[in-house]
Amino acid sequence: MIARSLRPVFLGAGGRILNRRIGFGLVVALAFLFGSASLRAQTPASPDGKAGSIDKAPIDKAGLIDDIVIGSRVLAEFGVLDGFGHVSARDPANPDHFWMARSLAPALVTADDIMEFDLDGNAVDPRGRAVFLERFIHSEIYKARPDVMAVVHTHSPGVIPFTISPVPLRAVFHNAAFLAGGAPLWDIRKDFGETDMLVRNPAIGKSLALTLADRPVVLMRGHGDVAVGPAVKVAVFRAYYTDVNARLQSQAVALGGEVNYLTAGEGAKADAINLQVLDRIWNLWKMRVMTTLAK
Ligand SMILES: [Zn+2]
Repeated sequence: MIARSLRPVFLGAGGRILNRRIGFGLVVALAFLFGSASLRAQTPASPDGKAGSIDKAPIDKAGLIDDIVIGSRVLAEFGVLDGFGHVSARDPANPDHFWMARSLAPALVTADDIMEFDLDGNAVDPRGRAVFLERFIHSEIYKARPDVMAVVHTHSPGVIPFTISPVPLRAVFHNAAFLAGGAPLWDIRKDFGETDMLVRNPAIGKSLALTLADRPVVLMRGHGDVAVGPAVKVAVFRAYYTDVNARLQSQAVALGGEVNYLTAGEGAKADAINLQVLDRIWNLWKMRVMTTLAK
């Protein structure tokens, strides 16, 4: 309810900007309040990326939609998403439906742009709005993974080299510990021959979901990646740090010699801590997005 009452202040209908005269202190205070409200969406996950004990506290629809908007804008702000890519969340009250934006650049997404879909990728109330061609990434993963409550699809530039080279993406530092168990690589050509590379129907989405299996991230050859999680903030965190890890790993490989990666045991321990302190970075990200909206 806090998120609902404050949402128009910084997002507004159609992305109304924050009044410039509102001081930085108030922005920080809002970030704190939003952080408190969104704690309800925080659900712990086991170190292997699967959901742990899911928080059964009710999550209001407005708070969930705010998280999708913030996650979209955060990932655009940091260059993980550009004009493409999308963030979605499963409806906790109706697990056979999920929410994602109409076809729109992530940096422009507002609460008014979020639409409801069923698990066949059909919009519940399209009202003539254009929908993402690749919505089947989301619908088929929600079908295959009951533990997944949020999905992020990116074309993040740091990751692409690892989708086309024989070097596997591996965890090089603690924030990307969720990668310590490996990230499978999906090649659309294997099952579907020469395509336009897009996940444009349920069959292709199902193939991708099968390759993801029970992992937190799947790489897509010559395309990008998908990160999933038990809450929007977890999926966004994983999408962001998958890109950061890929960039760092590329640098480490370029230095030459044998790279000393995190072990699976280190990854499991570090991931558990990361999920406990995730709100610290989430609240910082939200504050950065609000500052951007104020310009
Ligand atoms: Zn894509």
